[in-house]
Parts: sequence; C-alpha cells; structure tokens
Amino acid sequence: MADEDTAAACVVCATHRGDALVPGGPVGEDDLVVVSHLSPPPPDGPGRSGVVYLGHLLVEPRRHAAGLADLTNGEAQRVGLWCARAARALREAGGAEHVYAAVIGDNVPHLHVHLLPRYPGTPRAYWWHRVDEWPDAPRGGASEVAALVRRLRSALG
Ligand SMILES: [Zn+2]
Repeated sequence: MADEDTAAACVVCATHRGDALVPGGPVGEDDLVVVSHLSPPPPDGPGRSGVVYLGHLLVEPRRHAAGLADLTNGEAQRVGLWCARAARALREAGGAEHVYAAVIGDNVPHLHVHLLPRYPGTPRAYWWHRVDEWPDAPRGGASEVAALVRRLRSALG
C-alpha cells in the first residue's frame, strides 16, 4: 500500500489537513510538527459528555510516521523540542504542577505524544495515567478548550 493511501485514511493526517475541527486550532506548529489539544467528543452520542480533560495535548509529526523509531533525526529533535515547549506552556499558562508524556500507538499508526498535565490538588491515587479520571479534574467542551489553547499559544510566543 502506498504511503499516500495510508495517510489518506489516517485521522491524524486528516486533522493536519484541516478536515476535522480542533477547537482553538493548533497550540503550536512548524514545518515538521503540530501540537494540538485533544478534541472534545460530540455531546450528543450515548454516554458522551461532550467534555475532555483540559490540557491533554498531542505532539505529532506532520509526516505520517508510525512511532518514535520511524522519525527522522530532524523530526525527532523537533518533537522533543515541542514536547518541552508545550510542557512549559502547560505549567506557566495552564496551571499544571507536573506534565506526563506518553507514546501508546496501539490504535492510530501516526505518532502522537500525549502530554497530560497534573493539576495541584490531584489525589495521589489519580497520578500518572489516571489524572483524567479524578472527578474534580478540570474538564471542558469546545469553548473551554479553545480558550485554553489561546492562553497556551500566547505563552509559547
Ligand atoms: Zn497520518
């Protein structure tokens, strides 16, 4: 299968092409990397709340590359740089006291580094991959996400 076919069916590539709505637009971007906020699910489906954990960012190479091992050295340097810059923005403008990073890749074969902020007051039982399960965690729909994205983008300068 040609790379273009794979990329045509890829949800991450579709977001980069602008086919999918991302509230507030990119948090940051350059010629190799896009940083965006996780989109809230539609509020009208069964069991859908329409809200997401605020500050859950995704750092993605523009090129359809499956995992860390598939990046060029240039892409890898840029992904690392954007992870650091976005984490600083989450701390300085997003209220995070700590930022977790993870690559999972079990479902979507286009690298996306998850950045998950931990907010002050998060009980120890919810640290790391359960931060977004804390009942009192900050969550929001499209308008709250867009407002946070604007704050993060201005913190990035
Ligand atoms: Zn892709």
